[in-house]
Amino acid sequence: MKKDNKNQDRDDNNSGPTISFTKEELLAELDNLNRRLAARDIEIIQLKEKRGEEVKELQVIKTQLEEAKGILEVKVEAKTRELRNLTESLEKQIKDRIKELQEKVEESENSRVALMNMLEDMEELRRRTEEEKEKTLAIFTNFSDGLLFFDSTNKLVMINPQAEAYFEIDANESKQFIGEKIVNLKENQKFEYLAELLGSKMRKIFRKEIPMKKNLTLEVSTVEVGSEQNRVGTLVILHDITREKTVERMKTEFVSIAAHQLRTPMSAIKWTLRMILDGDLGPITGEQKDFLEKTYISNERMISLINDLLNVTRIEEGRHLYNLILVNLEDLTSNIVGSYTEIAKRKSLVLEYVKPEQKLPQVKVDVEKIRLVISNLIENAIKYTPVKGKITIIVSVEDGRVQVAVKDNGVGIVKEQQERIFTKFFRGTNVMRMETEGTGLGLFIAKNIVETHGGKIWFESEEGKGTTFIFNLPAIAT
Ligand code: ADP
Repeated sequence: MKKDNKNQDRDDNNSGPTISFTKEELLAELDNLNRRLAARDIEIIQLKEKRGEEVKELQVIKTQLEEAKGILEVKVEAKTRELRNLTESLEKQIKDRIKELQEKVEESENSRVALMNMLEDMEELRRRTEEEKEKTLAIFTNFSDGLLFFDSTNKLVMINPQAEAYFEIDANESKQFIGEKIVNLKENQKFEYLAELLGSKMRKIFRKEIPMKKNLTLEVSTVEVGSEQNRVGTLVILHDITREKTVERMKTEFVSIAAHQLRTPMSAIKWTLRMILDGDLGPITGEQKDFLEKTYISNERMISLINDLLNVTRIEEGRHLYNLILVNLEDLTSNIVGSYTEIAKRKSLVLEYVKPEQKLPQVKVDVEKIRLVISNLIENAIKYTPVKGKITIIVSVEDGRVQVAVKDNGVGIVKEQQERIFTKFFRGTNVMRMETEGTGLGLFIAKNIVETHGGKIWFESEEGKGTTFIFNLPAIAT
């Protein structure tokens, strides 16, 4: 009924056509509705179930996703770490490389600076070398002595104007000799003497004279340039000694004339004294005899000095005109030794002569000159050996040469003075203290005589112990 009312109300309100239902219709309708509601409920339940399943499924997916996310996160983290490490290592490598490159740049900069410095130094060196060359060239050209420079292969490289003047060649002519070897220069007459003296191997020369022409005597010396391992060349110095030679010759001539002039009156004095001493001019007292004896000895010394001086002048004038004959040196030597027996005895010296063990070959000598040499050596041994000493003269053959040795156990020769022993007027300080007489000319003469005969003279000596003078002469095969 209510429903009806309602429908009535609605109909009243809408004032439209009114629909009326029957109860059965309504119940059917209701039943229909209920069924539809039940179906809907079932649907809802099914939906709910479906939703539940879906939720579960989603839950599983979520869990799976979360797991995957975790794994991914770990992986990402590892990868990130790896990448970080890689980046770090790369950064380090880059840094190292940059550092290395910087160092290299620095190093090459230093090298560049060093190279620049070296170049500067080289330039300075070149400049100085050039300067030195200029200086040397100026000295070479303007030197008052003649100079020739030969390179290490003995080729003429330079010749200065003074040398050109000595060889009488002008600058143009001299150019044709530049580059020539010393042996080839020999073919030219102007260089003949010099090339001969120097030899093909440029032998060392010290103060050797060469006669260039009349009124020109040159003294030649060579100087090795560079070290022994690195020989740059040889400098040949030509010094004009014409004036010295003239003065020397005049001095020699003067001494020669003076000695000759003195010899005659000295001989006259000698023979007069001899006659008085021998009583030929009447009797003399013992005291007068003593005085005259001393005068006679002094006069003898003067004559001996004059003879020495004359021998020296002959040597210096190059007058070695020896009267050469073949002799046996044994006879000559024993003869000379014999003549000194008396003098040696007076000084209580033992004078011994040792004969050669084998037969001596002959020698070709000027007997008087060789007698002078042997006598001088024996006289020196007697003079410079204190009383009761011993002198031995030994004649032998050594290396195919005849040799004479005079050995004493006297005062000896001071070591520092030994190299001057054969020079003119040299007398040792130790013998001068002994106040023995002497001129210092004997050994100079002896050396010249021996060498002119093609022989050699030398000595061995120890101060305070003794001396041995030895000379040899070439033997003549018979
Ligand atoms: P002199 O004997 O007239 O001085 P020498 O030329 O003969 O001249 O000798 C030169 C110097 O050599 C002597 O003064 C002496 O100093 C030294 N001399 C020579 N022979 C001997 C010797 N047998 N012993 C020691 N010194 C000697």
